[in-house]
Amino acid sequence: MTNGAFRFGDIRLYVLDMDGTLYLSDRLLPGAMDLIEYFREQAVPFLMYTNNSSRSAEDYAAKLNRLKIEVQPDLIMTSADVMVDCLKTRHPGEPVALLGTPACAETFRSAGVELSDDARIAVAAFDTTLTYAKLVRFCDVLRAGAVFYATHPDLNCPVDGGMIPDLGAFLALIEASTGRRPEIVGKPFRPTVAAISRRTGFAPSQMAFVGDRLYTDMAVARNNGAHAVLLMSGETDDAMLAASSIQPDAVFADAAALLEAIRGERP
Ligand SMILES: [Mg+2]
Repeated sequence: MTNGAFRFGDIRLYVLDMDGTLYLSDRLLPGAMDLIEYFREQAVPFLMYTNNSSRSAEDYAAKLNRLKIEVQPDLIMTSADVMVDCLKTRHPGEPVALLGTPACAETFRSAGVELSDDARIAVAAFDTTLTYAKLVRFCDVLRAGAVFYATHPDLNCPVDGGMIPDLGAFLALIEASTGRRPEIVGKPFRPTVAAISRRTGFAPSQMAFVGDRLYTDMAVARNNGAHAVLLMSGETDDAMLAASSIQPDAVFADAAALLEAIRGERP
């Protein structure tokens, strides 16, 4: 189902969410592999994007390769990559205090961002290796007045069999202790679209965000002049869609239905 004005022919870049869109945990969703193969065959530019900053693009490439989707890390972006783009644009050469996993720290370092507990910029990422000592150090940096960023707002992260607390829940704890709130750069916020635009050269109006969540995947498109394509293969059900103030340009059951529609419009 699409609204009247939506045409696949207007889309130059597909930005694909991963969890709930291409796979659920370790199970590929219907049409995911065929959709990527189609984009490759037709030379349609695409990128995979996730808000999860606990793993690197290399980690996601390895996971997709295990699921038999062959993709190089340079076609994958996380909210940590958006954060790096933002730091390089706004605070070039400045060291950063990072609350994050070793994989996230490596993403920052390999992009040339110096990490230091004694910094005037603080970045909170999804730290699945969080300890009380790390939390105390990070709150100290904030109390000292550091500029405060966070990679994404998600409260929980879907995993096999349920949910685990995600960065948004940590941010509530940090705010309770320090009174500080971050600027968030991941979906649904503008820096995500700006970073993708800088990396690919496409304008927001040429992009379609394809995903399963209304308040991140669809909102990032709606709020920033891109196209919003919802797949019902993950979090959103019919009742949630009907009740939402965020309405996508197009809705499909899954990646297989999306591919069928793209094929139908393109001769
Ligand atoms: Mg998702």
